[in-house]
Amino acid sequence: MTLDIRTLLVVNAANLLLMASILPFIMGRQLSQAAAHARASLVMQALGWLALILAGFWIHQWQDHLLSSVSMAYLSASQWLLFQALQGWLGPRRGRTLLLWVVWLTPLGYALTFQSYPVRVGWSNLMLALQLLIICQATLRPALRLDGAWRWVVFGCALTMAAFTAARGLMGAFFTELYPTFQAPSPVNLMAMLAANVTLVLGNLALLVAWHEEAEAQLREQAQTDGLTGLLNRHGWDERAPALYDQARRHANPLALILLDLDHFKRINDTLGHEAGDQVLKMLGGILQKNRRSSDLAVRLGGEEFALLLPQTDRAAALLFEQRLRQALRDACSAQPQLAVNYSAGLSLLGPADDTLASFMARADAALYRAKHQGRGCLVRAD
Ligand code: GH3
Ligand code: MG
Ligand code: MG
Repeated sequence: MTLDIRTLLVVNAANLLLMASILPFIMGRQLSQAAAHARASLVMQALGWLALILAGFWIHQWQDHLLSSVSMAYLSASQWLLFQALQGWLGPRRGRTLLLWVVWLTPLGYALTFQSYPVRVGWSNLMLALQLLIICQATLRPALRLDGAWRWVVFGCALTMAAFTAARGLMGAFFTELYPTFQAPSPVNLMAMLAANVTLVLGNLALLVAWHEEAEAQLREQAQTDGLTGLLNRHGWDERAPALYDQARRHANPLALILLDLDHFKRINDTLGHEAGDQVLKMLGGILQKNRRSSDLAVRLGGEEFALLLPQTDRAAALLFEQRLRQALRDACSAQPQLAVNYSAGLSLLGPADDTLASFMARADAALYRAKHQGRGCLVRAD
């Protein structure tokens, strides 16, 4: 079997162009920012290759000069967009500023040194290889999540292409007779073309998996979120509270639980309507969200009942926190007197007798029940 460079080039460009034109349709309009960046990166890459191929067809040198410089700009922009996608999926990555510089300097240096083949080929390929290496390290560090095996595939693809691109740059710059044109049939160039075909497919498969994982995580989050208040819902409580409870018990750390229930909430619905009731729930949800620490769980357990699970919080801190909430609700109600409400609360503090989360909750619930019976609008501590 003989591989020829032109065929590989055409197959690669055809694959790229097809993927870049089909993906926007099958991915739909409602894309996360990261997925949109990944998709735009593919389109840029396709445009870059197209410009590079077209540059070879033009007769006048200035057309080649212009088109291949534009191609370098597209290919660099494609790496920048890929980096943005990785940041969207994996969180902030290192190398952003360096990549930004390299992305600008690659086409600029290429355009300025166009008259010298060794310089422009050396420059552009080594700079593109550097971009790919920055992508490589961005796939791995910092590793914030344990899942995401797709990162290894992107890493492998970027590293492979970085090696071949650097080899092309070195040949073009220092051994020009081995790589006199872009389509030179040298073994390294052939291997690079083959690798480009393979990494295109594998890399894009990995990015689709990343997109899928992101969508799954969003669904999981949605399933745990209360649509009205934006707090966690009961499912979210069931998913997260046991871990906080276990941790506090294992390390004998303080843990406070406050159950809240709005007083005479039914009256608000009955007199002002269900929508006004919803507005009150949103108002309280906003207050809980605003006043909690990031480690606290704020949950709408159902109806007009809420729970706050406060790690590292002793009795004094829990009471202070609850006073702050009550004051915040008072302030909010004085701004909207027609929606004035109050709540009753039960507080339990984790003790040696709480051998399950359920019993810990039951104590808070009993305290809340007593608060209702003592006339509402107050907090009662569990025994
Ligand atoms: P108490 O002081 O004894 O707690 O009295 P209450 O009226 O607050 O309690 P009750 O359990 O009698 O009524 C709760 C009301 O909450 C009844 C229900 O219609 C209303 N409710 C539950 N979920 C929602 C909701 O999502 N939106 C609105 N607007 N009302 C809700
Ligand atoms: Mg109530
Ligand atoms: Mg209730």
